[in-house]
Amino acid sequence: MPKDYKRNVYILGAGFSKPANGPLMSEFFDAMMDTYHRGPLLNDDKSCFDFALEFRQEMAKTSDNLVLHLDNLEDLFGLLEMQVALGRRDEEHKRKFVHSVLRTLESRMWNAQTAPGKSGRVDSRAESKRTDLQNSWGIQNHRWLYYAFAEMVAQSHLDNPSSGDSIISFNYDLTPDRAFCELGYKVDYGLNSVKTTATYDSINRSPHSFSIPLYKLHGSANWFRCAVHQKTYVAPSRFPMGYSADSLLWDSAAKCPYCMPGVDSSKHTAFIVPPTWNKAIYQLDLLEVWRKAVEAISNADRIVVIGFSLPDTDIFFRYMLASGLKIGRGVKIYLLDPDERVARRYESFLSPTFRQSRFEWVNSFTAEFSIPFDRSWHRGTFDEFGIREISHRANRSL
Ligand SMILES: [Zn+2]
Repeated sequence: MPKDYKRNVYILGAGFSKPANGPLMSEFFDAMMDTYHRGPLLNDDKSCFDFALEFRQEMAKTSDNLVLHLDNLEDLFGLLEMQVALGRRDEEHKRKFVHSVLRTLESRMWNAQTAPGKSGRVDSRAESKRTDLQNSWGIQNHRWLYYAFAEMVAQSHLDNPSSGDSIISFNYDLTPDRAFCELGYKVDYGLNSVKTTATYDSINRSPHSFSIPLYKLHGSANWFRCAVHQKTYVAPSRFPMGYSADSLLWDSAAKCPYCMPGVDSSKHTAFIVPPTWNKAIYQLDLLEVWRKAVEAISNADRIVVIGFSLPDTDIFFRYMLASGLKIGRGVKIYLLDPDERVARRYESFLSPTFRQSRFEWVNSFTAEFSIPFDRSWHRGTFDEFGIREISHRANRSL
Protein backbone atom coordinates (compact mmCIF):
# COMPACT_ATOMS: atom_id res chain seq x y z
CA MET A 1 0.00 0.00 0.00
CA PRO A 2 1.42 3.43 -0.87
CA LYS A 3 2.30 5.08 2.44
CA ASP A 4 0.56 8.33 1.57
CA TYR A 5 -2.75 6.63 0.81
CA LYS A 6 -5.62 8.13 2.75
CA ARG A 7 -8.64 5.93 3.09
CA ASN A 8 -11.80 7.78 2.12
CA VAL A 9 -15.37 7.07 3.06
CA TYR A 10 -17.87 8.91 0.87
CA ILE A 11 -21.26 9.60 2.40
CA LEU A 12 -23.92 10.32 -0.21
CA GLY A 13 -27.26 12.07 0.31
CA ALA A 14 -30.01 13.23 -2.05
CA GLY A 15 -27.83 16.13 -3.26
CA PHE A 16 -25.47 13.61 -4.86
CA SER A 17 -28.26 12.45 -7.19
CA LYS A 18 -29.66 15.89 -7.93
CA PRO A 19 -27.55 16.47 -11.05
CA ALA A 20 -29.00 13.19 -12.37
CA ASN A 21 -32.49 14.64 -11.97
CA GLY A 22 -33.16 13.03 -8.60
CA PRO A 23 -35.81 14.87 -6.55
CA LEU A 24 -34.98 15.99 -3.03
CA MET A 25 -37.21 14.55 -0.33
CA SER A 26 -39.21 17.78 -0.14
CA GLU A 27 -39.82 17.76 -3.90
CA PHE A 28 -40.83 14.16 -4.06
CA PHE A 29 -44.57 14.49 -4.13
CA ASP A 30 -44.48 16.87 -7.08
CA ALA A 31 -42.21 14.47 -8.91
CA MET A 32 -44.64 11.65 -8.21
CA MET A 33 -47.58 13.62 -9.62
CA ASP A 34 -45.55 14.47 -12.67
CA THR A 35 -44.70 10.83 -13.31
CA TYR A 36 -48.31 9.80 -12.75
CA HIS A 37 -49.53 12.20 -15.41
CA ARG A 38 -46.78 11.67 -17.95
CA GLY A 39 -46.28 7.94 -17.67
CA PRO A 40 -45.60 5.54 -19.12
CA LEU A 41 -47.70 3.55 -16.66
CA LEU A 42 -47.11 -0.19 -16.89
CA ASN A 43 -48.88 -3.23 -15.40
CA ASP A 44 -50.47 -2.10 -12.13
CA ASP A 45 -48.45 1.15 -11.90
CA LYS A 46 -51.71 3.09 -12.00
CA SER A 47 -53.20 1.38 -8.96
CA CYS A 48 -49.92 1.90 -7.05
CA PHE A 49 -49.86 5.64 -7.80
CA ASP A 50 -53.58 5.90 -7.10
CA PHE A 51 -53.01 4.47 -3.65
CA ALA A 52 -50.01 6.75 -2.88
CA LEU A 53 -51.90 9.87 -3.97
CA GLU A 54 -55.05 8.86 -2.14
CA PHE A 55 -53.08 8.08 1.02
CA ARG A 56 -51.50 11.51 0.97
CA GLN A 57 -54.89 13.13 0.50
CA GLU A 58 -56.36 11.20 3.37
CA MET A 59 -53.46 12.08 5.65
CA ALA A 60 -53.85 15.72 4.69
CA LYS A 61 -57.48 15.60 5.82
CA THR A 62 -56.79 13.94 9.15
CA SER A 63 -53.64 15.76 10.12
CA ASP A 64 -54.79 19.37 9.81
CA ASN A 65 -53.65 20.19 13.30
CA LEU A 66 -50.30 18.49 13.12
CA VAL A 67 -47.03 19.77 11.79
CA LEU A 68 -46.47 17.21 9.08
CA HIS A 69 -44.92 17.87 5.73
CA LEU A 70 -46.91 15.62 3.47
CA ASP A 71 -45.06 16.71 0.38
CA ASN A 72 -41.98 15.33 2.03
CA LEU A 73 -41.48 11.71 1.17
CA GLU A 74 -39.89 10.86 4.49
CA ASP A 75 -42.85 12.11 6.52
CA LEU A 76 -45.39 10.39 4.32
CA PHE A 77 -43.49 7.12 4.21
CA GLY A 78 -42.96 7.20 7.97
CA LEU A 79 -46.72 7.67 8.50
CA LEU A 80 -47.51 4.70 6.31
CA GLU A 81 -45.02 2.48 8.16
CA MET A 82 -46.67 3.49 11.39
CA GLN A 83 -50.13 2.62 10.05
CA VAL A 84 -48.91 -0.76 8.84
CA ALA A 85 -47.47 -1.43 12.29
CA LEU A 86 -50.81 -0.48 13.88
CA GLY A 87 -52.74 -2.74 11.53
CA ARG A 88 -54.60 0.08 9.77
CA ARG A 89 -52.85 -0.60 6.50
CA ASP A 90 -51.30 -3.78 5.21
CA GLU A 91 -48.20 -4.92 3.38
CA GLU A 92 -49.97 -4.61 0.03
CA HIS A 93 -50.47 -0.89 0.66
CA LYS A 94 -46.82 -0.59 1.50
CA ARG A 95 -45.86 -2.44 -1.67
CA LYS A 96 -47.93 -0.02 -3.73
CA PHE A 97 -46.43 3.01 -2.04
CA VAL A 98 -42.84 1.80 -2.39
CA HIS A 99 -43.46 0.88 -6.00
CA SER A 100 -44.83 4.32 -6.87
CA VAL A 101 -41.83 5.97 -5.18
CA LEU A 102 -39.36 3.88 -7.14
CA ARG A 103 -41.27 4.14 -10.41
CA THR A 104 -41.01 7.90 -9.96
CA LEU A 105 -37.24 7.63 -9.64
CA GLU A 106 -37.08 5.20 -12.54
CA SER A 107 -39.01 7.43 -14.85
CA ARG A 108 -37.16 10.63 -13.89
CA MET A 109 -33.63 9.41 -13.51
CA TRP A 110 -32.84 6.06 -14.94
CA ASN A 111 -33.90 6.59 -18.52
CA ALA A 112 -31.60 9.55 -18.65
CA GLN A 113 -28.68 7.36 -17.78
CA THR A 114 -28.07 5.21 -20.79
CA ALA A 115 -24.42 4.76 -21.60
CA PRO A 116 -22.68 7.79 -23.08
CA GLY A 117 -21.74 8.08 -26.73
CA LYS A 118 -18.17 8.52 -27.88
CA SER A 119 -18.27 12.24 -27.41
CA GLY A 120 -19.92 12.05 -24.02
CA ARG A 121 -22.43 14.65 -25.09
CA VAL A 122 -26.12 14.18 -25.60
CA ASP A 123 -28.26 16.73 -27.40
CA SER A 124 -31.78 15.92 -26.41
CA ARG A 125 -34.47 18.20 -25.09
CA ALA A 126 -34.45 16.40 -21.78
CA GLU A 127 -30.76 17.09 -21.53
CA SER A 128 -31.15 20.81 -22.15
CA LYS A 129 -33.83 21.00 -19.47
CA ARG A 130 -31.30 19.86 -16.97
CA THR A 131 -28.70 22.39 -18.03
CA ASP A 132 -29.72 25.10 -15.59
CA LEU A 133 -29.60 22.73 -12.72
CA GLN A 134 -26.24 21.35 -13.74
CA ASN A 135 -24.82 24.80 -14.21
CA SER A 136 -25.84 25.64 -10.70
CA TRP A 137 -23.70 22.74 -9.58
CA GLY A 138 -20.90 23.71 -11.92
CA ILE A 139 -21.06 20.80 -14.30
CA GLN A 140 -22.21 20.34 -17.88
CA ASN A 141 -23.21 16.74 -18.13
CA HIS A 142 -24.16 14.72 -15.11
CA ARG A 143 -22.81 11.49 -16.49
CA TRP A 144 -19.28 12.81 -16.47
CA LEU A 145 -19.60 13.40 -12.81
CA TYR A 146 -20.76 9.90 -11.93
CA TYR A 147 -18.26 8.17 -14.16
CA ALA A 148 -15.51 10.35 -12.73
CA PHE A 149 -16.66 9.55 -9.23
CA ALA A 150 -16.81 5.81 -9.93
CA GLU A 151 -13.37 5.76 -11.53
CA MET A 152 -11.90 7.71 -8.68
CA VAL A 153 -13.21 5.29 -6.06
CA ALA A 154 -12.23 2.27 -8.17
CA GLN A 155 -8.70 3.63 -8.50
CA SER A 156 -8.22 3.41 -4.74
CA HIS A 157 -8.97 -0.32 -4.99
CA LEU A 158 -6.64 -0.79 -7.95
CA ASP A 159 -3.91 0.86 -5.86
CA ASN A 160 -4.80 -0.88 -2.59
CA PRO A 161 -6.64 -4.12 -3.40
CA SER A 162 -7.36 -5.06 0.21
CA SER A 163 -8.42 -1.70 1.60
CA GLY A 164 -9.70 0.87 -0.84
CA ASP A 165 -12.37 3.52 -0.35
CA SER A 166 -15.95 2.84 0.73
CA ILE A 167 -19.28 4.50 -0.01
CA ILE A 168 -22.18 4.93 2.38
CA SER A 169 -25.40 6.09 0.73
CA PHE A 170 -28.75 7.28 2.05
CA ASN A 171 -30.30 7.18 -1.41
CA TYR A 172 -32.55 4.50 -2.85
CA ASP A 173 -31.69 5.36 -6.41
CA LEU A 174 -29.13 3.56 -8.54
CA THR A 175 -26.89 6.39 -9.71
CA PRO A 176 -23.55 5.16 -8.30
CA ASP A 177 -24.47 1.47 -8.67
CA ARG A 178 -25.09 1.99 -12.34
CA ALA A 179 -21.90 3.94 -12.96
CA PHE A 180 -19.80 1.17 -11.39
CA CYS A 181 -21.65 -1.51 -13.34
CA GLU A 182 -21.23 0.28 -16.66
CA LEU A 183 -17.52 0.76 -16.06
CA GLY A 184 -17.02 -2.93 -15.22
CA TYR A 185 -16.62 -2.76 -11.43
CA LYS A 186 -18.51 -4.91 -8.96
CA VAL A 187 -20.03 -3.47 -5.81
CA ASP A 188 -20.35 -5.09 -2.39
CA TYR A 189 -23.62 -4.04 -0.74
CA GLY A 190 -22.67 -5.60 2.58
CA LEU A 191 -25.76 -7.84 2.53
CA ASN A 192 -24.98 -11.28 3.91
CA SER A 193 -25.61 -14.34 1.77
CA VAL A 194 -28.34 -12.99 -0.47
CA LYS A 195 -29.05 -14.40 -3.90
CA THR A 196 -28.77 -12.37 -7.09
CA THR A 197 -30.96 -12.61 -10.19
CA ALA A 198 -29.69 -14.15 -13.41
CA THR A 199 -29.72 -10.72 -15.13
CA TYR A 200 -27.64 -9.29 -12.29
CA ASP A 201 -25.05 -12.04 -12.71
CA SER A 202 -24.90 -11.63 -16.47
CA ILE A 203 -24.19 -7.89 -16.45
CA ASN A 204 -22.10 -7.61 -13.28
CA ARG A 205 -18.93 -9.13 -14.61
CA SER A 206 -15.61 -7.63 -13.70
CA PRO A 207 -12.02 -8.41 -14.59
CA HIS A 208 -11.01 -7.21 -11.09
CA SER A 209 -10.84 -9.27 -7.92
CA PHE A 210 -12.09 -6.48 -5.66
CA SER A 211 -15.63 -5.26 -5.03
CA ILE A 212 -16.36 -1.68 -4.08
CA PRO A 213 -18.18 -1.34 -0.72
CA LEU A 214 -21.48 0.49 -1.31
CA TYR A 215 -23.54 0.45 1.87
CA LYS A 216 -27.06 1.76 1.30
CA LEU A 217 -28.46 2.46 4.74
CA HIS A 218 -32.07 2.99 3.70
CA GLY A 219 -32.17 0.12 1.23
CA SER A 220 -32.04 0.26 -2.54
CA ALA A 221 -34.31 0.19 -5.57
CA ASN A 222 -32.64 -3.03 -6.72
CA TRP A 223 -32.84 -4.91 -3.42
CA PHE A 224 -36.00 -6.97 -3.25
CA ARG A 225 -37.81 -8.74 -0.48
CA CYS A 226 -39.50 -12.05 -1.34
CA ALA A 227 -42.60 -12.42 0.84
CA VAL A 228 -42.99 -16.06 -0.16
CA HIS A 229 -39.62 -17.18 1.26
CA GLN A 230 -38.90 -14.23 3.56
CA LYS A 231 -35.60 -13.61 1.83
CA THR A 232 -33.79 -10.73 0.18
CA TYR A 233 -32.31 -10.78 -3.31
CA VAL A 234 -30.41 -8.33 -5.46
CA ALA A 235 -31.55 -7.37 -8.96
CA PRO A 236 -29.52 -5.44 -11.56
CA SER A 237 -29.00 -1.69 -11.35
CA ARG A 238 -29.46 -1.45 -15.09
CA PHE A 239 -30.65 -3.61 -17.95
CA PRO A 240 -28.36 -5.04 -20.58
CA MET A 241 -28.13 -2.69 -23.57
CA GLY A 242 -31.25 -2.55 -25.69
CA TYR A 243 -33.82 -3.06 -22.93
CA SER A 244 -36.21 -0.33 -21.92
CA ALA A 245 -35.11 1.15 -18.62
CA ASP A 246 -38.77 1.77 -17.90
CA SER A 247 -39.44 -1.79 -16.91
CA LEU A 248 -36.45 -2.55 -14.69
CA LEU A 249 -38.51 -2.50 -11.50
CA TRP A 250 -41.21 -4.74 -12.93
CA ASP A 251 -38.66 -7.12 -14.34
CA SER A 252 -36.79 -7.31 -11.03
CA ALA A 253 -39.97 -8.11 -9.09
CA ALA A 254 -40.70 -10.92 -11.54
CA LYS A 255 -37.25 -12.55 -11.40
CA CYS A 256 -37.00 -13.70 -7.79
CA PRO A 257 -34.25 -16.36 -7.71
CA TYR A 258 -35.97 -18.12 -4.77
CA CYS A 259 -39.28 -18.50 -6.63
CA MET A 260 -38.11 -18.97 -10.23
CA PRO A 261 -39.87 -20.12 -12.31
CA GLY A 262 -43.44 -19.04 -11.70
CA VAL A 263 -42.93 -15.85 -9.71
CA ASP A 264 -45.89 -13.88 -8.34
CA SER A 265 -44.49 -10.37 -8.72
CA SER A 266 -47.02 -8.90 -6.29
CA LYS A 267 -45.16 -10.80 -3.51
CA HIS A 268 -41.91 -9.02 -4.30
CA THR A 269 -41.21 -5.49 -3.18
CA ALA A 270 -38.11 -3.37 -3.35
CA PHE A 271 -36.47 -3.13 0.03
CA ILE A 272 -36.38 0.47 1.18
CA VAL A 273 -37.04 1.98 4.60
CA PRO A 274 -37.92 5.53 5.60
CA PRO A 275 -35.42 7.28 7.87
CA THR A 276 -38.20 8.25 10.26
CA TRP A 277 -38.97 4.70 11.20
CA ASN A 278 -35.81 2.87 12.05
CA LYS A 279 -37.26 -0.25 13.56
CA ALA A 280 -36.88 -1.84 10.16
CA ILE A 281 -33.12 -1.59 10.47
CA TYR A 282 -33.14 -4.22 13.16
CA GLN A 283 -35.01 -6.60 10.96
CA LEU A 284 -34.11 -8.22 7.73
CA ASP A 285 -30.62 -7.61 6.49
CA LEU A 286 -30.04 -3.92 7.10
CA LEU A 287 -28.39 -4.25 10.49
CA GLU A 288 -25.39 -5.94 8.92
CA VAL A 289 -25.13 -3.15 6.35
CA TRP A 290 -25.15 -0.55 9.13
CA ARG A 291 -22.53 -2.49 11.09
CA LYS A 292 -20.20 -2.50 8.08
CA ALA A 293 -20.81 1.20 7.50
CA VAL A 294 -19.78 2.03 11.08
CA GLU A 295 -16.68 -0.12 10.65
CA ALA A 296 -15.80 1.74 7.43
CA ILE A 297 -16.14 5.06 9.27
CA SER A 298 -13.90 3.88 12.07
CA ASN A 299 -11.20 2.93 9.56
CA ALA A 300 -11.42 6.14 7.55
CA ASP A 301 -8.80 8.86 7.27
CA ARG A 302 -11.17 11.17 5.42
CA ILE A 303 -14.93 11.35 5.39
CA VAL A 304 -16.34 13.13 2.37
CA VAL A 305 -20.03 13.99 2.69
CA ILE A 306 -21.70 14.85 -0.62
CA GLY A 307 -25.19 16.35 -0.57
CA PHE A 308 -26.38 14.87 2.71
CA SER A 309 -28.19 17.61 4.59
CA LEU A 310 -28.20 15.93 8.02
CA PRO A 311 -32.00 16.04 8.39
CA ASP A 312 -33.41 16.02 11.92
CA THR A 313 -35.31 12.85 11.10
CA ASP A 314 -32.08 11.00 10.58
CA ILE A 315 -30.74 10.93 14.09
CA PHE A 316 -29.32 7.48 13.41
CA PHE A 317 -26.69 9.00 11.17
CA ARG A 318 -25.44 11.11 14.05
CA TYR A 319 -25.27 8.04 16.26
CA MET A 320 -23.47 6.18 13.54
CA LEU A 321 -20.89 8.90 13.10
CA ALA A 322 -20.45 9.16 16.87
CA SER A 323 -20.00 5.38 17.15
CA GLY A 324 -17.60 5.14 14.27
CA LEU A 325 -15.32 8.15 14.63
CA LYS A 326 -12.11 7.22 16.37
CA ILE A 327 -10.61 9.94 18.49
CA GLY A 328 -6.94 10.37 17.84
CA ARG A 329 -6.96 8.88 14.39
CA GLY A 330 -6.93 12.35 12.90
CA VAL A 331 -9.89 11.78 10.63
CA LYS A 332 -11.05 14.81 8.67
CA ILE A 333 -14.56 15.53 7.46
CA TYR A 334 -15.18 17.34 4.18
CA LEU A 335 -18.68 18.52 3.43
CA LEU A 336 -19.51 19.18 -0.22
CA ASP A 337 -22.81 21.05 -0.30
CA PRO A 338 -23.97 24.31 -1.87
CA ASP A 339 -26.17 25.23 1.10
CA GLU A 340 -24.57 27.17 3.93
CA ARG A 341 -27.37 26.21 6.35
CA VAL A 342 -26.33 22.60 5.94
CA ALA A 343 -22.75 23.50 6.82
CA ARG A 344 -23.96 25.26 9.99
CA ARG A 345 -25.96 22.16 10.92
CA TYR A 346 -22.84 20.01 10.71
CA GLU A 347 -20.84 22.54 12.68
CA SER A 348 -23.38 22.53 15.49
CA PHE A 349 -23.09 18.77 15.65
CA LEU A 350 -19.28 18.73 15.91
CA SER A 351 -17.22 19.75 18.91
CA PRO A 352 -15.49 23.16 18.66
CA THR A 353 -12.04 21.57 18.48
CA PHE A 354 -13.05 19.12 15.78
CA ARG A 355 -14.82 21.84 13.84
CA GLN A 356 -11.82 24.13 13.83
CA SER A 357 -9.12 21.71 12.87
CA ARG A 358 -10.75 18.83 11.08
CA PHE A 359 -13.91 20.01 9.36
CA GLU A 360 -14.01 21.71 6.00
CA TRP A 361 -17.05 22.97 4.12
CA VAL A 362 -16.83 23.24 0.36
CA ASN A 363 -19.75 25.13 -1.12
CA SER A 364 -20.05 23.30 -4.39
CA PHE A 365 -20.14 19.82 -5.70
CA THR A 366 -17.24 19.74 -8.08
CA ALA A 367 -14.96 22.68 -7.39
CA GLU A 368 -13.15 20.83 -4.69
CA PHE A 369 -13.25 17.48 -6.36
CA SER A 370 -9.54 18.01 -6.14
CA ILE A 371 -9.32 17.83 -2.35
CA PRO A 372 -9.62 14.15 -1.65
CA PHE A 373 -8.97 12.98 -5.12
CA ASP A 374 -5.23 13.06 -5.29
CA ARG A 375 -4.63 10.09 -7.49
CA SER A 376 -3.90 9.20 -11.04
CA TRP A 377 -6.79 8.40 -13.32
CA HIS A 378 -7.72 5.90 -15.94
CA ARG A 379 -6.78 8.27 -18.67
CA GLY A 380 -8.16 6.11 -21.48
CA THR A 381 -11.58 5.81 -19.95
CA PHE A 382 -11.87 9.52 -19.37
CA ASP A 383 -10.86 10.39 -22.89
CA GLU A 384 -13.46 8.05 -24.24
CA PHE A 385 -16.21 9.62 -22.16
CA GLY A 386 -15.01 13.13 -22.79
CA ILE A 387 -14.48 13.92 -19.15
CA ARG A 388 -10.96 15.14 -19.51
CA GLU A 389 -11.84 18.50 -18.07
CA ILE A 390 -13.00 17.02 -14.80
CA SER A 391 -10.11 14.63 -14.66
CA HIS A 392 -7.62 17.46 -15.07
CA ARG A 393 -9.22 19.27 -12.23
CA ALA A 394 -9.33 16.21 -10.09
CA ASN A 395 -5.76 15.36 -10.86
CA ARG A 396 -4.46 18.64 -9.54
CA SER A 397 -2.20 17.89 -6.62
CA LEU A 398 -3.02 19.07 -3.12
ZN1 LIG B 1 -39.76 -14.98 -4.32
